[in-house]
Amino acid sequence: MAKIIDGKAISAAERISIKEETTAFIEANGYAPGLAVIIVGENPASQVYVRNKHKACGEVGFLSRVYELPEATPQGELNALIDTLNADEAIHGILCQLPLPKHLNEDEVIARISPAKDVDAFHVQNVGRIMLGDYDFLPCTPAGVMVLLREAGVEISGKECVVLGRSNIVGKPMAMLLLQANGTVTICHSRTKNLAEVTRRADILVVAIGKAKFITGDMVKPGAVVIDVGMDRDENGKLCGDVDFASVEPICSAITPVPGGVGPMTITMLLRNTLTAAKRFAQAAN
Ligand code: NAP
Repeated sequence: MAKIIDGKAISAAERISIKEETTAFIEANGYAPGLAVIIVGENPASQVYVRNKHKACGEVGFLSRVYELPEATPQGELNALIDTLNADEAIHGILCQLPLPKHLNEDEVIARISPAKDVDAFHVQNVGRIMLGDYDFLPCTPAGVMVLLREAGVEISGKECVVLGRSNIVGKPMAMLLLQANGTVTICHSRTKNLAEVTRRADILVVAIGKAKFITGDMVKPGAVVIDVGMDRDENGKLCGDVDFASVEPICSAITPVPGGVGPMTITMLLRNTLTAAKRFAQAAN
């Protein structure tokens, strides 16, 4: 029987430490860490994410502001709001919920957010710092995976790590973090040949491709640790991951479930990044 890595419990414990550190931060500085979340348009999934972020901020004692802009907001207006928030001393983290409506340029938005307030860690300056191993913020999902591996007691150094997916927000930074932890890392993507041969080499397999139940038991090495980042829908519309849990769980040594694995960690790491940003701001002011 594989160990089930309980992302809900690990996330809850991490939020308790964030809340304690926030209380100490407020006592020391007289203000709370502040997060501004911008949402443009009425994408229902984005609205749920933004509500959850706002609620999580309140629970740990942050100041949280949500800016709901209409679908037709012009680029100049969005840019102006970001400029205002960049200059706002009560706000330490800024996040613009993606995807944006088609007429808006996401790259321009990401580049406009001050790197010091870029709690998603998407700005090119923060991406570069991750490459150098000298960073304040990590993208929330891969950062959450690293916490799950640490809390599950998984040794990374010297292990064969295979990452499926090479997106800028999950796959690439995930591979970089495993490399920095001294894993031997292979990145796979849609053009990878003989995929199952590569995934079967993995001691640690991280899957982030967005294909429901794609990884089956025959693609996994016995005893591997399997991290499922996917958030997909199965044939009945039920939430599931990129890993076929039923066939993989009997083979691996540890696995994250979906739901209840990686998902709960993502907002927690956003809170962690916002607290880090506030601490950096306070240090610079003293
Ligand atoms: P993405 O931007 O769509 O990237 C998917 C990656 O998977 C691409 O690199 C693609 O390869 C690769 N891929 C697609 N089909 C493949 C196949 N058959 N074999 C091998 N590689 C394949 O997705 P993403 O944003 O990284 O998200 C991936 C999954 O994680 C999604 O299910 C998403 O919902 C989930 N997610 C979850 C969280 C969370 O909080 N739990 C956060 C973010 C994302 P190419 O580059 O060659 O196209």
